[in-house]
Amino acid sequence: MFGRERIELKRPAQIEVMRRAGLVVASTLELLRENAVAGVSTGELDQLAREHLARHGATSNFLDYGADAAGHGGFPGVLCASVNEQVVHGIPGDQVLRDGDLISIDFGAVVDGWHGDAAVTVAVGEVAPEHAELVRVTEGALWAGLAAARLGGRVDDISGAIEDHVRASGDYGITDGLTGHGIGTAMHQPPYVPNVRTRGRSARLVEGLVLAVEPMVTLGTDDSRTLDDGWTIVTTDGSWAAHFEHTFTLTPRGAWVMTAADGGRARLEELGVPYGGP
Ligand code: MG
Repeated sequence: MFGRERIELKRPAQIEVMRRAGLVVASTLELLRENAVAGVSTGELDQLAREHLARHGATSNFLDYGADAAGHGGFPGVLCASVNEQVVHGIPGDQVLRDGDLISIDFGAVVDGWHGDAAVTVAVGEVAPEHAELVRVTEGALWAGLAAARLGGRVDDISGAIEDHVRASGDYGITDGLTGHGIGTAMHQPPYVPNVRTRGRSARLVEGLVLAVEPMVTLGTDDSRTLDDGWTIVTTDGSWAAHFEHTFTLTPRGAWVMTAADGGRARLEELGVPYGGP
């Protein structure tokens, strides 16, 4: 996806605008979480998100993503709705949520040209204990990754912390080939942020770098495939998956989670990590 493209470092004023995009993402995901109940379709959630974006004067970075020069073939929703064995990139539509489902909702927003991107997995009604635990482990892996980031460190510190958290939690898969990413004037920018340790030297964590960190964890395999719709990625063994994501940056004071309503303060403090936001 990225070649020798340079890493975009943001000035503080630009990061302030990214925070505004992040807050729109946070409030939309909160609204979607409340509405992800049995009987609601993923298309209805998409409609709610569209209205919420418009109310906040923000636009969608998911809608038409990947379209060709003629504007065809792009992603048709403002969110990805991935249910149960669907890992990511599910297309919102007629699928109706049932009690016991897991729905991963990935959502992004653009404010004044700057992007935000985050995801949550929501338990619909009463879910099986192993599915509740999968959700807890995946969210824990995201925060372990964020908590491991320090100015002067490397992206691999984040990747390694995610991997260690998942491995220490039990027998889980970490979906291969899908990673987090830099984000700024585009949704997907270098560097990649893998969810497992990588060989070789990864990018340095410096002030002005903004990253989207997004572990995808399964109850089975690391392997996935794309459905015939050209988008939806499912586990090859049918095991269920969870996905959490936040957009964050590092300031000289600590970490600032731009797609968390409180900037990540509560969770970071719980983890003993300095909060770097205002
Ligand atoms: Mg992302």
